[in-house]
Amino acid sequence: MAGTPPAYTTPDPDLRELIAARPHLSMHAADGLVMEDVPLAAVADALGTPCWVYAAGAIRGRYRALDGAFRDAALPVRIHYAVKANDHPAVLRVLAAEGAGADVVSGGELRRALDAGMRAEAIVFSGVGKTDDELRAALGAGIGQINAESAEEVDRIAAVAAAEGRVARVALRVNPDVDAATHTKIATGRAGDKFGIAWGEVPALYARLAALPGLAPAGLAVHVGSQIGTMQPYRAAYGRVAGLVRALREAGLAVPAVDCGGGLGIAYRDEPVALPAALAAVIGQTLGGLGLRLAVEPGRWLVAQAGVLLAGVIQEKHSGGGRFVVLDAAMNDLVRPAMYDAWHGIVPLAAADAAQPVTAAAVVGPVCESSDVFAHARALPPLAPGARVAILDAGAYGAVMSSTYNARPLAAIALVDGGRWATVRPRQRLEALWAADTLPDWLADGP
Ligand SMILES: *Cc1c(COP(=O)(O)O)cnc(C)c1O
Repeated sequence: MAGTPPAYTTPDPDLRELIAARPHLSMHAADGLVMEDVPLAAVADALGTPCWVYAAGAIRGRYRALDGAFRDAALPVRIHYAVKANDHPAVLRVLAAEGAGADVVSGGELRRALDAGMRAEAIVFSGVGKTDDELRAALGAGIGQINAESAEEVDRIAAVAAAEGRVARVALRVNPDVDAATHTKIATGRAGDKFGIAWGEVPALYARLAALPGLAPAGLAVHVGSQIGTMQPYRAAYGRVAGLVRALREAGLAVPAVDCGGGLGIAYRDEPVALPAALAAVIGQTLGGLGLRLAVEPGRWLVAQAGVLLAGVIQEKHSGGGRFVVLDAAMNDLVRPAMYDAWHGIVPLAAADAAQPVTAAAVVGPVCESSDVFAHARALPPLAPGARVAILDAGAYGAVMSSTYNARPLAAIALVDGGRWATVRPRQRLEALWAADTLPDWLADGP
């Protein structure tokens, strides 16, 4: 059944522990839950709920911590932010200003990255199915690299490049046959997954790629999955890729770069997480001595903790001995609990609410699906109608995965930056949901 709670063997972190583990959040007697220096109640008052709030300072801090880890290890690793985690232009701007490049997986993301000021040479195009139109746009923009995922795609890139009179820098995304021990919906590096090129087929394809006119071999790429908590899958994958780099070079082929992928996990609850220094160490030990240009493609690690989804309590419902807190946010806003059984911290915005004794409650949205459940058996204080909560760590794979299911408009978004904040997307107007829908002429006259 969708939404079955994962079996945790330890108690949930309490409200105080959740806040303490997130440096950009704090609880104040008068202001309640504060993000950087902005009381979240003020944002909820202005925008209404549900709404997303992103912390620019927290995003910068994460970028600098990761970049700093590579610098400390004296590794030439470029950071290409995986735009699919959160493609809001304000987020892209903040990261572009830090010097980030981008990893994009569609023509739409390519446009967003370029419009936000990402340099074309610092953009990598990944993904298992790029259309000819998307490839033309990428070559036209002069992006730095295309990661090809099949022999068929290499041929298609060559054809498009020839037709456009351009040279495409192409890396091969290899499937390392490594199990990232993450949720099966976000594991991408196992032999049967749809991603990447089977290990044994890489050498011949790389040689062909190097010989095709219009293509410049850019090296190898590997991405084993998402929300990875230990270094073991990385170490295994990069070790295998290093062996492949050596073998290709022994065959006389130039392998200038390796793209190490993304996937670094965060602690949504209290799970063990890998630190940037550990990733830098593993990259250094496996690929560091090969004279390669290196890159990583983190999405979640940079932006997840920087975002919250603010929701209002419609009412509590008591039924069959169960306690349900019914929110005005739902799975159409944040689908991760329904889709991945994901655990998200939930914290009241008001200090007075947060100080009350807690009892277990299911936290649910109003959508007509039994999987519209944000949390099962969560220890929460009593929450009266109109009380508000923050659903934590919603900055990655949050708003980007929203739908308008149940005719629910897309929620508003605000950006906090120190003591400043601004609305960066108003709540979608209801009429905008159906503005593009039309009737065929034989139904246009009404019943
Ligand atoms: C999704 C994806 C990423 C980012 O994954 P995170 O888990 O958000 O770091 C990076 N590279 C590729 C190819 C991806 O598909």
